[in-house]
Amino acid sequence: MKIACLSGGVGGARFLRGVLAVAPPEDLTIVGNVADDVEVLGLHVSPDLDSVLYALAGLADEERGWGRADETWNALETAGALGGDAWFRLGDRDLGLHLVRTQALREGATLTEVTAPLVDALGLGCTLLPSTDDPLRTFVETPAGTFPFQTWFVARGHRDEVDALHYAGSPEAAPAPGVIEAIDAADVLLIAPSNPYVSIHPILAVEPIRAALERRRVPCVAVSPVIGGKAVKGPVDRMLTRMAGGVTPAHIAGCYAGLIDALVFDEADAPAELPEGVRGVVTQTLMVDEDARRKLASAAIDAAGALA
Ligand code: GDP
Ligand code: CA
Repeated sequence: MKIACLSGGVGGARFLRGVLAVAPPEDLTIVGNVADDVEVLGLHVSPDLDSVLYALAGLADEERGWGRADETWNALETAGALGGDAWFRLGDRDLGLHLVRTQALREGATLTEVTAPLVDALGLGCTLLPSTDDPLRTFVETPAGTFPFQTWFVARGHRDEVDALHYAGSPEAAPAPGVIEAIDAADVLLIAPSNPYVSIHPILAVEPIRAALERRRVPCVAVSPVIGGKAVKGPVDRMLTRMAGGVTPAHIAGCYAGLIDALVFDEADAPAELPEGVRGVVTQTLMVDEDARRKLASAAIDAAGALA
């Protein structure tokens, strides 16, 4: 059974660990968000792809919630002390990956070509594709002005309310090689419990990816990133309230209008009325441990199976 899953960073990666606990890695293709990518200290950083890589390789720092475990910060502290950029937190181990990626990109490799050997080096066995190899960047429109995503998220601590987003580089961005093929060949399409606005919509801003989901012949199941009307982490609840008008499962389903056949959401948000054509699946969605991740992934895959 082939699975294609759209994913952002940390929330998506938690869910993908669950998917890999119930499905063989060779059956899974992950389509990752690259609109958060940022150049720091001359290095190309792909935070969402890296969150997936680190989580699936068991290298992620679970307590901090991002980056690598056993991290140290000597390079960044040195850069800061010398007047270099230190606002974007990059640990020493993490920097090693960015060096490898940046060198390969400078030598002419695409992001797809750079990412595949990282997946292999970490022994993951699944396929991780960037949504696009073209430049695609999220910009956040707020009452204080329009900011590049990482300026809003990291430098300004996502304190500004969000009025709208745009994804520079779309719709010219072409899907990375293999993305449309993976969606078309999938038996199950999944949308991870990532932030719709800043993780999934930028993937869908690559028009042929949206079109491939629209013409799907197999079920597509999304998982809600909200529990009891609150984000587990990050600004998704505030964004939904302001831009969608509410934080219920219906508002989340509304972010994926025409693209999903079921939404998995938490008991704490039940009961909920969903848009026509979207089935609700109620379960516990907090991924506290391996067992919880596995159960949530099973619920999403089973929901697709029931609809097939
Ligand atoms: P980012 O790119 O690193 O910000 O991560 P994602 O966009 O992939 O995921 C962020 C979202 O994951 C947030 O909106 C969280 O509410 C959600 N999230 C994190 N952990 C969990 C969890 O255990 N269960 C659910 N349902 N959502 C989660
Ligand atoms: Ca992200």
